[in-house]
Amino acid sequence: MTINNTIADLLEWAKRELCDGESPNTDARILLAHILNQTTTYLMTWPDKVVEHEVKVRFEGLVAKRKLGHPVAHLIGKRDFWTLTLEVTPDTLIPRPETELLVEYALELTLPKQARVLDLGTGTGAIALSLASEKPSWQVFGVDVVEEAVLLAQRNADLNQLTQVQFSQSCWFSHLPNRQFDLIVSNPPYVESNSHYLAQGDVRFEPASALTSGTDGLDDIKHIIKESFTHLEAGGWLVIEHGFNQAEAIAQLFSKYQYTHLQQKHDLNNQPRVSAAQKPFI
Ligand code: GLN
Repeated sequence: MTINNTIADLLEWAKRELCDGESPNTDARILLAHILNQTTTYLMTWPDKVVEHEVKVRFEGLVAKRKLGHPVAHLIGKRDFWTLTLEVTPDTLIPRPETELLVEYALELTLPKQARVLDLGTGTGAIALSLASEKPSWQVFGVDVVEEAVLLAQRNADLNQLTQVQFSQSCWFSHLPNRQFDLIVSNPPYVESNSHYLAQGDVRFEPASALTSGTDGLDDIKHIIKESFTHLEAGGWLVIEHGFNQAEAIAQLFSKYQYTHLQQKHDLNNQPRVSAAQKPFI
């Protein structure tokens, strides 16, 4: 079919091409706005504007990739999270809105003014950078086992002028700065390794190491809950994101390892998705 070259025509064509997907309209707009280096509002304001042939060709290329399932965040190389724009690559998980719940939760805790904070499995740096953007006096560290993730998180710190956040390579607790933390946060892998969910949508293009963790999805969470205890100050908090069906198992782990003041936060679907607990004061 011939595609005309106005913004409205291109969007209409793309919407039909992507009609099998979850969000054809939004995807089409984000991809075209990205190529034009404009906002999606611009597209709505100038539907009759004719775009250059080169724009049309690039748009067709991105729509074809989207049709194959490639995540929009990979196609445009970025994703908004909290108040930040983050570079995204296939080396890490794409930041998700539900993780903002964890950020919100961590910000509600009562912590020292110059709290030392550790983000385990930082990926793009989304959580560490969001916390640092809200609390400039906190000393935030982010670690990831994947070297490319560490480099990406550092680039995201630069892009968002949050260079006070320090990122380094560590397999969970293996290479941490030699100090205790007032707050440890993590969005670890927690999907069951044989979950059908892994065969659909964006997750097909994300690293398994950021998604799955044993048959019940709890291997890394168990390790984090157990080991964080020795890395927390007395009165320090551990806040973790998890699957909607894991809250009970996590409550038991927190209690097994002697944490107190367990709190669980629900997402917009009223599912428990973030749990926090405190290392007791002695
Ligand atoms: N919340 C993610 C998802 O739904 C899973 C990410 C994770 O395991 N941390 O795909």
